[in-house]
Amino acid sequence: MKNNVTFSTANYDYLYSCNHKECIPLHPILRRIIKLDEDGCLGSVPNDPELNGYSPEMIAYYLRKYDYLKARGIIASKDNVEFASLTASSIQEELENLSVLTFEVTDRCNLRCRYCAYGDLYEGYDERKGQDMDFGVAQKMLEYLYSIWENANPLSSVRTVAIGFYGGEPLMNFELIRQVVEYTSKHPLSGIVFKYNMTTNAMLLNKYQDFLQKHDFKLLISLDGTKEDDCHRITTNGKPSFEHVYRQVKVLKQTYPDYFQHSVVFNSVIHSKSNIERILDFFEKEFGRQTMFSELSNKSVVNKEVYDSMYRSVIGSIALSARQRELDEKLMYGSPTISSLTYYLHHLSNEVFKDYRTMFYGVKKLSLLPTGSCIPFSRKLFVTVTGKILACEHISHEFALGRVSEQGVKLNLEEIAQKYNEQYYSKITPVCKKCYMQKCCAQCMFYTGIQEQKVVCRNYKNYDSFAKYLATNLNYMEQNPWAYDRVMKEISLY
Ligand code: SF4
Ligand code: SF4
Repeated sequence: MKNNVTFSTANYDYLYSCNHKECIPLHPILRRIIKLDEDGCLGSVPNDPELNGYSPEMIAYYLRKYDYLKARGIIASKDNVEFASLTASSIQEELENLSVLTFEVTDRCNLRCRYCAYGDLYEGYDERKGQDMDFGVAQKMLEYLYSIWENANPLSSVRTVAIGFYGGEPLMNFELIRQVVEYTSKHPLSGIVFKYNMTTNAMLLNKYQDFLQKHDFKLLISLDGTKEDDCHRITTNGKPSFEHVYRQVKVLKQTYPDYFQHSVVFNSVIHSKSNIERILDFFEKEFGRQTMFSELSNKSVVNKEVYDSMYRSVIGSIALSARQRELDEKLMYGSPTISSLTYYLHHLSNEVFKDYRTMFYGVKKLSLLPTGSCIPFSRKLFVTVTGKILACEHISHEFALGRVSEQGVKLNLEEIAQKYNEQYYSKITPVCKKCYMQKCCAQCMFYTGIQEQKVVCRNYKNYDSFAKYLATNLNYMEQNPWAYDRVMKEISLY
């Protein structure tokens, strides 16, 4: 692997230094000097035929600049990356500072969305048997975590633990939700503020809205847009759910306008029948806000033909629109283009610093784990309806880390660390060692076929694809300077 990646946009040439995460404009003379040095011909620079059109003074100037960049380490050979191992103590630390706990309260649902991850399109999830989680299971999980939190040294004196309810349709097991809220209210913990959130299809919204408003639940409502965009969200009788859901949301908005304003957001799945402009106009007109977009998961697809006929990417939908720039500006981080740019600026450039210490003294060489997978429980602890404990709800249930039942919690942190190191990291590390995203990877390894014979990472970047990735982001900023300004001013990932 090389440290220096050269690439071109529509207007300029650039040099990117992987070691320094620095991108500098590259004069054609400098670009040629770098190439000649890489080929072991630095001495031939003054007589190089490709530099014929330039004066000796200019060539001498860029040779001095080249020496300067080398002295600063911008132009250098690539630092070797040694990946660290996961330890039980780092998992323990994440449990002590857990910020999101989500219960899959039921696998029952009152809709049969055609693209549902638990439906006929996919495999890899536990069979849906119409089960509800018993409060005894949720209580054991809470007791286990309480015992850790009571004895822990948290990183901050007061922190929020968000308790989420997930399904199926969580409101179909409202009793468990009520019991969990009651439990945390009756068992306050010093230094912890509990907050609640839920992803819901809104079919039962009005029945429970008083409770949700009273406890300030943050609601993520799944609604794909207008009736046409929402066509795959059908009831158990095969009827469209749109009219019913639309009415429920309208009633919530009228009954609790302030709560609706600050605590309700939407998510819309994009598919081949959606129209992104129509969706945005719908949410703006009806609810005075934008929706977030998501795509059909491409993981563990079994019915490829149906999947292919239904799938469309968000970026593909925006590209089809004549209002592309307007959509990027409206969606900002929700636009894949802006999201990619934000990732570049936050993780692959020296434009954004996590804190003043790193700004003044540089990034400390922290031990680097392979891939962008989270350390278990650093983002979430997810409990399935059958009591499996997972790092989140998005990954296959085969990656369960432990179990909880009415008898208690089985979570062996040493075994989890060993499994990550020996079964997962050891398999993907040879690929990551050759990948240009290795120091700033966002790829979850559970989407790379880590259980299969051969891992396939669709975000793997060799020299050429990394150069293309850099060029795409720099090119977008050149064409859209507003995007740089707004990302720097408005988006904070830390
Ligand atoms: S998708 Fe992967 S990286 Fe993201 S929270 Fe889940 S387990 Fe962690
Ligand atoms: S993008 Fe894939 S191959 Fe590259 S470092 Fe991340 S996980 Fe490894």
